[in-house]
Amino acid sequence: MLYGSLVRERFPLRRIQRRDGLIAVVVEFHRVDAHRVQPCLYRPEHRYRVSIPYRCIHSFVPPHSSSPSRRRHVFLPKAAGCWVAMGKWKSMQASGWIFDIQRFCTHDGPGIRTVVFLQGCPLRCSWCHNPEGWTPRGQVAIYPSKCIGCGRCADVCRNDAVADRGRCVSCGACCEACPSESRRLIGRIATADEVIATAMRDQPFYVTSGGGVTLSGGEPLSQPEFSCGLLRQLKERGAHTAVETSGFTDWETLVRISPLTDLFLYDIKLLDSSRHAELCGVGNEQILANARRLSQSGAHIVFRTPVVPGVNDGAEEMRRIGEFVASLPGLHQHELLPYHGIGAGKYAALGLEVPLLGDECGNE
Ligand code: SF4
Ligand code: SF4
Repeated sequence: MLYGSLVRERFPLRRIQRRDGLIAVVVEFHRVDAHRVQPCLYRPEHRYRVSIPYRCIHSFVPPHSSSPSRRRHVFLPKAAGCWVAMGKWKSMQASGWIFDIQRFCTHDGPGIRTVVFLQGCPLRCSWCHNPEGWTPRGQVAIYPSKCIGCGRCADVCRNDAVADRGRCVSCGACCEACPSESRRLIGRIATADEVIATAMRDQPFYVTSGGGVTLSGGEPLSQPEFSCGLLRQLKERGAHTAVETSGFTDWETLVRISPLTDLFLYDIKLLDSSRHAELCGVGNEQILANARRLSQSGAHIVFRTPVVPGVNDGAEEMRRIGEFVASLPGLHQHELLPYHGIGAGKYAALGLEVPLLGDECGNE
């Protein structure tokens, strides 16, 4: 299977006169295949260069690839099929980073649902229990207590990154080599077709329970193309769709995603912007403005507030959040979610500092 993303098109910049008289233009792609995909995304020098006949309006990607580590200039045979015309370009683009797919969930929207966890989040909430979803791409979790000291990870790592996370490109080679599961790659690239196939396995349950599919994360709107693609395909198959979001995104993304979304699960964590910035890494102006505009647009929204002890569980903060939701156009459900421990072990495994809000906050 091939994945690819356009690096840049040098259409007017470089034209090549071929021996057969045709003019070719140069287009650069990240040229990647399944086992090379992660290094290629991190290493721009792994780009793959192809030339396309000038007379063709579509971009070609050669079906037979060679080493991605060399920059190559490929003249396609005239008989080469056009990947756009063959419909393959669409599926190549429709891939994104996910870190989990959970079936039979009952807390992220109505009925029985499949929840797809997309990678990447612009917020850094101090109580986050999914820090593995923060980075836009996969990362290695390390569990030192399981290590038997065999050294295989260091043997297979080409980047000397076993002892230095900063050099890691998340290729996963050390995780495959580790016999004791001391290293685990969290996050992977998935095609939309693959996610849809998994999600639609439970369609009979969606029909009988009023359920569907929820995009969560991370922040699903941090991968707007992938999210749109997934939602569109789900709608085409008649599935109920929900998007769990922090609302920290540009309005244009919400406009695109809204017609494909039956339900927004929209987090309102704190009303005080400076406190929001202190505890979540960003202010909340955009979040509140988007909430208002989305309400005005008539979208179906359930607002949700994680009740975090010592953060927003005071009467005053709760009153302010409630008043904000009540002030929005339309009638919206507002759920208070119980806080559960952040799982300090996850932070340690990912090499992250354990935030101040720890498991000791409890679950009240
Ligand atoms: S540490 Fe592991 S995942 Fe990271 S670059 Fe080395 S082999 Fe790949
Ligand atoms: S391969 Fe696994 S068990 Fe062996 S040294 Fe590396 S982390 Fe430890």
